[in-house]
Amino acid sequence: MTDVTFIGLGIMGAPMAANLIRAGYRVTAYDVDTARVERVVELGGAAAASVPGAVAGAEVVITMLPDSPQVEEVAFGDDGLLNHGAAGMFHLDMSTIKPETACRVAQAATIKGIRPLDAPVSGGERGAADGTLSIMVGGHPDDFEAIRPLLAVLGTTVRHVGPSGSGQIVKAANQLVVGGIYGLVAEAIVLLEASGVDPEGGLDVLAGGLAGSRVLELRRHSMIKREFVPGFRVDLHHKDMGIAVAAARRAGVSLPLTGMVAELMAAAKAQGHGSLDHSALLKVIERING
Ligand code: NAD
Repeated sequence: MTDVTFIGLGIMGAPMAANLIRAGYRVTAYDVDTARVERVVELGGAAAASVPGAVAGAEVVITMLPDSPQVEEVAFGDDGLLNHGAAGMFHLDMSTIKPETACRVAQAATIKGIRPLDAPVSGGERGAADGTLSIMVGGHPDDFEAIRPLLAVLGTTVRHVGPSGSGQIVKAANQLVVGGIYGLVAEAIVLLEASGVDPEGGLDVLAGGLAGSRVLELRRHSMIKREFVPGFRVDLHHKDMGIAVAAARRAGVSLPLTGMVAELMAAAKAQGHGSLDHSALLKVIERING
């Protein structure tokens, strides 16, 4: 498969599309923001001016959109990709959306002979640029095997995790862990500074011991400097915590820490930090502490 359409060229989609071009795929790009399409064209991609135009002739359509409503808008309706994609085409939705939306899109695709996979990612902007994302894939195992070489261009940890919607459940689990770690790193910084201990030295030690994590590795210095350029926006993590809390309710389980992290993320948004990086959870912990 060499003809790939990429819809949604934001913080994540743009570097992912660039990696596919570098790997030799013929990439057609579409985004409601035409400046973002132009940047992919400069790298060797082709521009499309609409979803139907983008999907015509594609063997694989990748969507990398903010949330469930945008995926539904692009997938369904007269101008939707499901209406214009040929039978046999793959639809790989790599956005983070509700598992039940992923299932609805997959059901509608299957009726049209389109092969759906939900394939959300973890690893952030850096992972997208380096082609080192973790990719969790829900859908038919044969479809996963067929698409695996393409996914290997985008990520290093690529797993089939179950039927349609399963990728989104794994992503919800990922997001509650990441959110929790950010909350605790923020609390560690507040404790160190309030105690008169240098947070740089303190967090260096944490990063090298059992408390070490990718969050500490990548974000400890910018958090201490109060630099919150996204990265991953608070708005999107707030959306993801909502998905995690709803998934827990559907599964009939209680996740108390997840509930607390969801409330802290909601506070970050309510305090006007929605467009900052999710490490701005630190601002909420600081405010709690006056
Ligand atoms: P983003 O907001 O930077 O990019 C989204 C892109 O979609 C934008 O370019 C926007 O113009 C475009 N778009 C919106 N509606 C559209 C429509 N109807 N048709 C065509 N284009 C449309 O978001 P992002 O950070 O790239 O995240 C994309 C998805 O990946 C989200 O679901 C997010 O939760 C997930 N994600 C993000 C990160 C991260 O670190 N940024 C990491 C993992 C997963």
